[in-house]
Amino acid sequence: MNEVEHLSCDVLVIGAGGAGLRAAVEARLAGKSVIVISKSLFGKAHTVMAEGGAAAAMGNVNSNDNWQVHFRDTMRGGKFLNNYRMAELHAREAPDRIWELETYGALFDRTADGKISQRNFGGHEYPRLAHVGDRTGLELIRTLQQKLVSLQQDDEAAGEGEDKLQVIDETTITELFTAGGAVKGAFGYRRGTGRFMAIAAPSIVLATGGIGRSFKVTSNSWEYTGDGHALALRAGAKLINMEFIQFHPTGMVWPPSVRGILVTESVRGDGGVLKNSEGKRFMFDYIPEVFKAQYADNPDEADRWYTDPDQNRRPPELLPRDEVARAINSEVKAGRGTEHGGVYLDIASRRSAEYIRERLPSMHHQFKELADVDITAEPMEVGPTCHYIMGGIEVDADTAASAVTGLFAAGEVSGGMHGSNRLGGNSLSDLLVFGKRAGQHAAAHAGASEPPKLTAAEIDAATEEALRPFGNDGENPFALQSAMQAINGRLVGIIRRAGELEEALTELAALKDRIANVSASGGRAYNPGWHLALDLRNMYVCSVATAMAALERDESRGGHTREDAPGMNPQWRKVNLVASLEDEEVRLTRRAVPSMTPELLGLFETSELSKYMTPEEYQSSTESST
Ligand code: FAD
Repeated sequence: MNEVEHLSCDVLVIGAGGAGLRAAVEARLAGKSVIVISKSLFGKAHTVMAEGGAAAAMGNVNSNDNWQVHFRDTMRGGKFLNNYRMAELHAREAPDRIWELETYGALFDRTADGKISQRNFGGHEYPRLAHVGDRTGLELIRTLQQKLVSLQQDDEAAGEGEDKLQVIDETTITELFTAGGAVKGAFGYRRGTGRFMAIAAPSIVLATGGIGRSFKVTSNSWEYTGDGHALALRAGAKLINMEFIQFHPTGMVWPPSVRGILVTESVRGDGGVLKNSEGKRFMFDYIPEVFKAQYADNPDEADRWYTDPDQNRRPPELLPRDEVARAINSEVKAGRGTEHGGVYLDIASRRSAEYIRERLPSMHHQFKELADVDITAEPMEVGPTCHYIMGGIEVDADTAASAVTGLFAAGEVSGGMHGSNRLGGNSLSDLLVFGKRAGQHAAAHAGASEPPKLTAAEIDAATEEALRPFGNDGENPFALQSAMQAINGRLVGIIRRAGELEEALTELAALKDRIANVSASGGRAYNPGWHLALDLRNMYVCSVATAMAALERDESRGGHTREDAPGMNPQWRKVNLVASLEDEEVRLTRRAVPSMTPELLGLFETSELSKYMTPEEYQSSTESST
């Protein structure tokens, strides 16, 4: 039963969410043979769960919007720690990627004059999210899957069937093979049968999404265990900004079985407001200095904004997510939370039942089915939930290439694009822009080379590692995952302190040997205990990288709040924390954040730059841009 299935291709794409599928389309269009591997069922990825929409400055609803405004918003959202070149490419190319989806068969909601409709979201100056009700991700995945099928049909016509484009789902990759600093293939197992698989490929695109399952309260589903992050580290690539984790402000809090499930930001974009247990609309008390110019400080102006956005400032409920999550946390901590430890999100008293049902059908259904709450008549109870990791594989902005030759990364698994905090809607556009780029450059790298040779010794070693839990008489994988989630939630959560982070690192270190001794029983077919046992070491290495970086960065910025180091420090804005793996231990180094070009710096007022940068930086920037 240890027989290994051998496959080869030009471009191996690991992950079948939006980034993976977009990369696969591009690589196949470039004439390369492609295999796409997905841990879950084909079509079931986080991308399909995306509700609100994809951000792209098409200017359909407000013609003042353009790529420069989107770039500015993204940099502000990320508190200027973003890889500026990624943010620039993203803002410039997102509209084309959305229009292109329509040429593949997607159909976005329309404005009255027939253009693609765009909705408001936190941190975006203008209505910018192209959407399909609150089921945008479903349309995106459906369209990309359909595109893949159409490409397979072209191959069929050429007599090659799926030879050139194969999708293998319910298969987990556990190792990457490398030689001389370059990737040459991957190893994994089919979840249904436990059968092993080795795939030789000169180019690999990692598109495995996030790490959310390292936290108990999360919007992420079971397969998000940081596999791509860990595979990249073990292959010799680097991770950046792992301290920045986005806690989405609005997850469900009640009943306990659904705690963490996402409540889309569209509820606030469409008029919903946050209230505490005293009925106070509290976000006006939490507008930080850097955003005072753009956000209304009173309910009248905030409400006028929905109908007259050019003459009024935005409601503070639409501040970037890190700000709203911290505000909710403070209200609950101050004893003004709801019975179940959240706050109220009220759209019922602000919009008609008909409007709510039309704009937010999934939310209406979700609350009715899961909590027996009718959101057209009652407020929702919400609280922060671990949602997204800004940190990820360090890549070249233009090519999506990592530090390992032939290894590319796109989508949530890559780092840099969102800086210290991602704006809602910027992930769907990110994965389209950089998925395409990753596919294009992975195809170019593969060139006309022969598939690399995988040795029996490396396949045997990967097999042995995958089977190790069966030989152990040790720890229960579910208990270990709970222990890790408890450490992360208690000590590396939304508000952090140095002492607690040190404690987290000590407690995580104590888990290391226990994870090495994790055991699985039973057979290899559909064995969730064995699957989790193999995922644990990935969650572990990501958790350590996050805790180490969170301890090192003694300032508060975006998705990293240090109670003992409040406020942003301009010196830290110049620093990326880079994690690598040496002798199985995470090492952290500092790397300078590249300086923005004068052209891009010129898009900001000096008065704004001065809130983020050292005087030398913004003074020299104004000199060079004049
Ligand atoms: P994913 O779509 O997460 O796909 C990852 C793929 O990798 C999956 O196929 C998975 O099975 C596979 N995989 C993982 N590990 C392995 C492995 N070891 N071997 C093989 N395959 C593996 N963003 C927005 O911009 N707008 C929104 O409205 C929005 N709403 C969201 C709502 C929810 C509920 C959630 C959870 C997220 C939302 N996001 C939204 C975020 C966004 O959906 C994700 O960040 C994005 O879809 C990630 O896309 P991806 O292609 O990088 O990865």
